[in-house]
Amino acid sequence: MINCQNVLDNCSYGLYIVTSNSKGKLNGQISDALMQVTAFPPQTAVCINKNELTHEYIKESGVYAANILKKSADLQFIGLFGFKSGRDTDKISQVKYKIGETGCPIVLENTVSSFEVKVTKEIDLGTHTMFIGEVVNAEQIKDDEVMTYGYYKTSLKGKTSKNSPSYNENAKEKKMTSEKSGKYICDVCGYVYDPAVGDTDNGIEAGTSFADIPEDWVCPVCSVGKDEFSPE
Ligand code: FE
Repeated sequence: MINCQNVLDNCSYGLYIVTSNSKGKLNGQISDALMQVTAFPPQTAVCINKNELTHEYIKESGVYAANILKKSADLQFIGLFGFKSGRDTDKISQVKYKIGETGCPIVLENTVSSFEVKVTKEIDLGTHTMFIGEVVNAEQIKDDEVMTYGYYKTSLKGKTSKNSPSYNENAKEKKMTSEKSGKYICDVCGYVYDPAVGDTDNGIEAGTSFADIPEDWVCPVCSVGKDEFSPE
């Protein structure tokens, strides 16, 4: 297999929360692998990793909703859907949402618009399944700028989940040796721990150095331990 991921990283994408509802169970995850494929009728395609709970729910129900993120959504909000599994966390209950026509959750915060899709075709792509379907409902939530995958990566310094179709295993981030700022960055999701701010939601007061954080503390965005952090 050729090593082309560094080139493919230049492709542009949006960033979406893809949700589904299987027998009353709700879940959602981040996806960049979504596109419109025809206009008449309006059809879209999305690729979901087979390990994801959302994959299971779309397979079972044959429906999904794509919620288009707004540009100003923060890393913490995106991380809830991008780096936490619905098998461990009830993600949907932590955000404002309503149930759409297909039963899928429509996310009402940090989103610009949303559309619901009935799946008509599935293509097995090995690690992922491509779900192609017809848009059956669409609504504008708020007029705002939309998030792009490029903005997420370059401006928010967000990372790519290992389950993403565009995960680049060769792009190991350089571990900096300078610890001048005292800031540490999560190698998995890109969250930055700033000792000047602390992590007060989780009991770490401002002024606490990274070394003094208890060993059982976990990244507030993706829940990995301290050993997954590097000096920024
Ligand atoms: Fe993290």
